[in-house]
Amino acid sequence: MAKVPPTPQIDRRTFLHRSGALAGLGALGLSGCARQVRTAAAPALPFYDAVGPIPPIRAHEDRIFRITVCLRPFRAAGPRLDAEWVGDKFVVHNYGHGGSGWSLSWGSGAVAVRKALVNGDKNIAVIGCGALGLTSATLLQREGVRVTIYAKERPPFVRSSRATGSWTPDSRIALASAASAAFPAEWESMARASFAMYQSYLGMPGNPIEWTDRYALSDEEGAVPGHSRTTVPGAEKLDFARYQNRIHDLTPAMQPLPPGSHPFPVPFVSRNTSLTFNVADYSRQLLNDFLIAGGKIETQEFHSPQDLAALPQRTFINCTGYGARALWSDESITPVRGQIAWLIPQEGVNYGLYYKDLNVLGRRDGIVIQVSGQGEASGWNDTNEAPDVEEAHSGVRSLQALYQRMASMPANRRG
Ligand SMILES: Cc1cc2nc3c(=O)[nH]c(=O)nc-3n(C[C@H](O)[C@H](O)[C@H](O)COP(=O)(O)OP(=O)(O)OC[C@H]3O[C@@H](n4cnc5c(N)ncnc54)[C@H](O)[C@@H]3O)c2cc1C
Repeated sequence: MAKVPPTPQIDRRTFLHRSGALAGLGALGLSGCARQVRTAAAPALPFYDAVGPIPPIRAHEDRIFRITVCLRPFRAAGPRLDAEWVGDKFVVHNYGHGGSGWSLSWGSGAVAVRKALVNGDKNIAVIGCGALGLTSATLLQREGVRVTIYAKERPPFVRSSRATGSWTPDSRIALASAASAAFPAEWESMARASFAMYQSYLGMPGNPIEWTDRYALSDEEGAVPGHSRTTVPGAEKLDFARYQNRIHDLTPAMQPLPPGSHPFPVPFVSRNTSLTFNVADYSRQLLNDFLIAGGKIETQEFHSPQDLAALPQRTFINCTGYGARALWSDESITPVRGQIAWLIPQEGVNYGLYYKDLNVLGRRDGIVIQVSGQGEASGWNDTNEAPDVEEAHSGVRSLQALYQRMASMPANRRG
């Protein structure tokens, strides 16, 4: 019979810290102070739902390894998905997904592919190699079509490679006042189709897609970090469309965490679990799968729709993102600038945090930090793609200050 190794001696408090269950067990009353931690707003967490270990992020400014900027291609009416003839070329548009391009990509691609197949062509071109181009091209291949992608850039140099990497299907997707009456249902169908496809990328080597926890921290009850301001100084009020309620059944709801059940130094904390896109690995897998299935990629820049005349294909899906503004003279695209400071990834840091203007997400390819001083209106109509170094550093300093407050909480003190 195998010999059982002796159990190492650790005290109860150390065990609870290591297991990440300290707060959760406290909330259950096992720490002997259940009355203090139970509130009407946030009932105690059940044992099986205890807050897991939350390794602190090493928030040093010199751990920033890059700063990236990208422009969200926002259209007040929502993405463009109509088709048109340009001479004898049939073009289906698939651009203008604002802050939701990755999240909606499969569903939006499915709509575009259905339209592209109407003429029966079996040799179709996709223009663009970002989130929308790669998914549209893959869906065409699954329909037995020969596909060539033409694009100026491919990952990791496309704007899609500079996204946060979260399931955010209605982030800056449209203005409620400008979207058609039919759009909310179309959006729902795209979101559900994408969500379903994302489940088929779980559990793969490299973790292209995974479920991870998010914590929303607030000093005030009911405040939603990052969503408070939607007015651009000197401009109109932006009534960004909110459709999450239509798909509330897909992901767990935000759950208020009782005081004492978590290590954060603020009075109001909620948690949910959502999809993280590890964009570096995910886009590489999309590219590889496309090439393995016989797809071709040609590096080419187009200056006007008439340039398509020189290509052999008759049918095209136009996935040029913000590039469509110049290429298709589409002034309905508003650039919404977004910047990310990247901290060196850390083992175990695979959670997200929202606090005040900070949006942090621990991914396998970096810990991404965004500062959104104007909430969702941040970067509105700003085409500047140069990094703002001070903004990046201020985000890291704010995160550092948060962890310093955390370290001083009695439950988090070492020794
Ligand atoms: C900071 C930030 C964070 C974001 N976070 C998220 C998130 O967490 N989740 C989410 O779902 N979305 C997020 N988004 C939104 C998402 O990144 C975009 O909606 C998405 O990248 C758009 O993808 P795309 O394929 O349309 O465009 P792009 O990635 O810009 O790809 C366009 C392609 O077209 C090519 N192209 C353009 N013009 C031409 C031309 N004239 N000739 C030839 N080729 C051309 C380009 O080279 C490229 O290959 C974020 C955006 C920003 C800015």
